[in-house]
Amino acid sequence: MIPLLPALALASARPAPDPRPPYWQQEVRYDIAATLDEARGTLAGRQRMHYANRSPDTLRTISFHLHLNAFRPGSRWSEADSLEGRRRFNDLRDPDFAYNRVRDVTIDGQPVRAEWPLAPDSTIVRFALPRPLAPGDSAVVAMAFEARPSTLPRRQGRRGRRFDFAHWYPKVVVYDRFGWNEQPLVPAGEFYGEFATFRVTLDVPDDQVVGATGIPVCGDPGWARANRQPGRPVELGRDRYAGRERVVRAGDGCAFADGIADPAPAAGMKRLLWYAEDVHHFGLSLNPEYRYEGGRFRDVAVHVLYLPGDSASWGGGVAVRRTEVALAWLDQLFGPFAWPQLTNVHRIEGGGTEFPMMVMDGSASQGLILHEAGHNYTMGILANNEWREGWLDEGFTSFQTAWAFEALAQEDGYPATEAAMLDLDLDGLSQPASLRSDAYRDFATYNQMVYARGELFFHQLRYVVGDEAMRRILRTFYERWKLKHVDEAAFRAVAEEVSGRDLSTLFGQFLHSTDLYDYALGRVERRARPGGGWRTRVEVRRKAPGRIPVEVAVVGEADTAVARAEGLADREWVELDTRSRPVRVLLDPRVRTHDWNMLDNERRWAFSPLDLLVQRVPRRHYLDTFVSQPRARDRLTVGWAPVAWYNDAG
Ligand SMILES: [Zn+2]
Repeated sequence: MIPLLPALALASARPAPDPRPPYWQQEVRYDIAATLDEARGTLAGRQRMHYANRSPDTLRTISFHLHLNAFRPGSRWSEADSLEGRRRFNDLRDPDFAYNRVRDVTIDGQPVRAEWPLAPDSTIVRFALPRPLAPGDSAVVAMAFEARPSTLPRRQGRRGRRFDFAHWYPKVVVYDRFGWNEQPLVPAGEFYGEFATFRVTLDVPDDQVVGATGIPVCGDPGWARANRQPGRPVELGRDRYAGRERVVRAGDGCAFADGIADPAPAAGMKRLLWYAEDVHHFGLSLNPEYRYEGGRFRDVAVHVLYLPGDSASWGGGVAVRRTEVALAWLDQLFGPFAWPQLTNVHRIEGGGTEFPMMVMDGSASQGLILHEAGHNYTMGILANNEWREGWLDEGFTSFQTAWAFEALAQEDGYPATEAAMLDLDLDGLSQPASLRSDAYRDFATYNQMVYARGELFFHQLRYVVGDEAMRRILRTFYERWKLKHVDEAAFRAVAEEVSGRDLSTLFGQFLHSTDLYDYALGRVERRARPGGGWRTRVEVRRKAPGRIPVEVAVVGEADTAVARAEGLADREWVELDTRSRPVRVLLDPRVRTHDWNMLDNERRWAFSPLDLLVQRVPRRHYLDTFVSQPRARDRLTVGWAPVAWYNDAG
């Protein structure tokens, strides 16, 4: 027996085996050549995609997103709108609706026929592979395409000579350990893409000013002519990819080596070559009226394109500085930006949408820029599946934005976010933050849960592990998972490893349930210690299913002690020492446990003559109109309803 013991001890000291199979992601290269036809509102051309199967599976089909087909009548998006009373794309007629069409599709040179697995929705197209694609094997998919944004903007759009292009090229669907993610584009959720290299040749009218994902490695994007900073020459950053883009220059023109573009652009058009690596979407915005300003954070170039009327709100360095502030915040929070530039454009629609290396914003507010630039980290670089785990996308982004405001502007958004969520919880309207986007009751609930409840989850994690560990979690997660597909399991593994804590309860309850939290003070005992000072024993009672560490504060006449109860057991004792005589005990003094009932969180020893006059439990009186009934977790609410009564029974 005895000789076995050291071996047993060693075995039990090993971490639990990782149940996840080794990580892999597919290898994708796009060559795209497209021409903008402003009169028709289209971007049309050819695409050749090289696809290497790095999965352990043999593939028999391949699928593409044609997501512009969401913004037209009859799509699943339009049907979701109609069901929830929104009128948008179902009302659009030609030429106002968006579309994305493909034709002449070949795989390894063989013509293939399109299948529409979600018909009549056409946001996903599938092709049978002419031969199975074994692990390690690769295929070339070539096709002609035509893309038209809608005149009613939604994350894309066109207006006159302005174009905001998203989802414009046939984008290969992600194949991951769940298989092909053939996700239709619906209002809830935006992105999940394969990391890829892009070589994009664009022919556009000579006077267009263009912002896009990647680097303009050849041709004039129009920034120098649009530049509003006379003392600051435009930095194109052409050397950033060190020749990997393989551009061949000849005379005035240039082309990608082994590319697919026609020899030269048509008269009146200019040719732009864009190159990007390790991105899973290619955003593109054009407007001949764009003004340009440039900036820089460390080695990341900042390009801002704004409208003629924006000189006060965007110009004069305002938007550039705010984009730099966002990059600086994100750099210290996660780590160095993974790409060479970030372009911030004033888009047609309000609000904002993120793309790798690019944000399209409806305003230049610091909050919006922090949010959308933040998505370049939590969506772009840490690439989640937003349809499967939107909280890891919008919740994560909302959290880092809230933390930025707290750190940079001393504005704490937590109390309002938490209180609003508690109202939804108590009304029974909440759903777990972890649902698939299509499982939510409606779009409004999806937004509340994925943004606000998702944000709260990260706040709760920060509260549980502390600021210092939270920062290490974010930096470790980024270092380990940048430019990869991430999910809850990946994040949780890092969070547990870095914090050294079992976080299964927090993840399980705050992400996957809507359990209520309620802690109460049980028995409280104080006694003077023989050597001086006081010891207070506090019983923490858990009265609801939610479990989270809870702070206990003992306020003495001259000092205060704070300790934490683990919050797991139904009853738990905590001991705190104070130098002075305790007068008051508080549970969760900073209101961080999402406790729904705080009437049982306080105990006082001190006697005040006022206590004889004032009722112990604070109350809020209100006029009960039967329309709304205010609630509060820290006082009783008492409704007074005036009633007039009579009868005519005689
Ligand atoms: Zn967002």
